[in-house]
Amino acid sequence: AAEPGSSYRVVLLGASGVGKTAFASIFAGAADSMDSDDCELCGDEMCEKVIEVDGEAATVTLLDTWDAETDSGWAEDCHMQTGDAYLLLYSITDRASFLRASELRITLRRFRPAQHTPIILVGNKCDLVRRREVSVSEGRACAVVFDCKFIETSAAMQHNVWEAFRGIVRQLRLRRDSR
Ligand code: GDP
Repeated sequence: AAEPGSSYRVVLLGASGVGKTAFASIFAGAADSMDSDDCELCGDEMCEKVIEVDGEAATVTLLDTWDAETDSGWAEDCHMQTGDAYLLLYSITDRASFLRASELRITLRRFRPAQHTPIILVGNKCDLVRRREVSVSEGRACAVVFDCKFIETSAAMQHNVWEAFRGIVRQLRLRRDSR
């Protein structure tokens, strides 16, 4: 078996209803993980597991900032400080969630001014083509402004979700290796 490798805390951020829980469930589920059923610390909002990316194992702890908007924002603030990397989700069917992602990006910058924190802007629900409110080019342009990567996903179709998780690990490694 491979070594556990480096350990990273990845935080899911985004408006309510964009698909954070769906992402966390896919991560917690067996698909594509090295240990088929092993998800330690598998509480509601945190899941740790070893995944293989480019032939190298990485321990990823995924934190879900459930309903961060409805409470005082404490949990969100807390996660803003503890994450090594962020998946910033919006729904392509919900322009308000896209605007929320911009706000969260600005908040992140305030919390993490010094380091270059890996972030991927994730446009989820790309299966709902007829309900699209945010175009692919808008998403991509926003990511350029945010200075982060961009991907469109569908948690419902399990499309590109693991690509997003692997992408964030790759960015974390690049940062690690450049130190
Ligand atoms: P959260 O509030 O960010 O945790 O969002 P949830 O994961 O609870 O998702 C909100 C709703 O959107 C649920 O009914 C999900 O089934 C649905 N949903 C999540 N991701 C997708 C997706 O990629 N496509 C579609 N069609 N529905 C999705």
